[in-house]
Amino acid sequence: MIGWVKRQILAFCATNAFASRRDVFSIAMRSAVGVIFVGDILNVIGHVVLDRFGLLPYPLVPAATVGALITTLLGIPLIFTVLYIVGLAIHDLSISRARFEELSRTDQLSGLLNRRAFLDAYAHHRGPASLVIFDIDRFKALNDSFGHEAGDRAIVSVAAVLKAIFQTPHVVARIGGEEFAVLVTGMHDADRLALAGAAVSRIAGTVIDLGDVDTVVTVSAGVAEFAQHTEFAQLFAAADKALYLAKSSGRNQVLHETEIPEPIRRGSSHHSPVHSVQSA
Ligand code: GH3
Ligand code: MG
Ligand code: MG
Repeated sequence: MIGWVKRQILAFCATNAFASRRDVFSIAMRSAVGVIFVGDILNVIGHVVLDRFGLLPYPLVPAATVGALITTLLGIPLIFTVLYIVGLAIHDLSISRARFEELSRTDQLSGLLNRRAFLDAYAHHRGPASLVIFDIDRFKALNDSFGHEAGDRAIVSVAAVLKAIFQTPHVVARIGGEEFAVLVTGMHDADRLALAGAAVSRIAGTVIDLGDVDTVVTVSAGVAEFAQHTEFAQLFAAADKALYLAKSSGRNQVLHETEIPEPIRRGSSHHSPVHSVQSA
């Protein structure tokens, strides 16, 4: 019984019922009135029973009325206060829980989703989609020439362009140092590929302010089709091979998995196979 009540309370707390202080006030007030209503009924029944057995030292009606009045006037404020305080604590906890959940899914530098959130989005995705992996070209050289902070600024700049181009329902994430993954959803295959190409061009045309100097970075991208692979590891490996080829054939371009020559397609990915989310 206690376990059941506990589960019901937890399930209730997990809903949005305590989203605002106004909700908390309303729940506390409704609960207090409900409890006191039941209390008043029990009060009257108690008086009637005592009266039947001749144990009531006062006339039934005034005694029951006074009893119900006292229960109502004292009980409602008391129960309301207790429930309101507990409700406010649940409200605060639900806010910090939501904040923590958001932090655990967000890449702090770029503000994009992180790898974990991306894998989650992938696992829940249905319908046509392409995976695009973007990797900043010669990023190490940028770090070496202008410092790590300049590299961070480049990451933030690339992230902003990707976010602007791939708006919801597309899913954009930073999955590694200077590596981004986008699940481009809906549309025709060719349009998804064209959008990836547009992102590559836009990034190459975006000036990055490094304080003393301005700079520009380019990215290379590899594309693989969601429908062609049953597991994320396979999808990622295909996009990664296309990316690798885009790098080795000049950078600042996007390549589709169908453009990978057969011998390379059968070889292993140049990244370690760290991904293992199943597509349903
Ligand atoms: P390629 O064109 O082949 O991609 O070459 P690259 O230099 O971009 O690739 P490489 O993998 O050699 O270098 C990636 C560098 O990214 C190495 C690492 O120090 C740097 N890096 C990784 N994470 C971060 C980060 O969060 N901030 C900064 N500033 N640098 C990072
Ligand atoms: Mg890289
Ligand atoms: Mg790179």
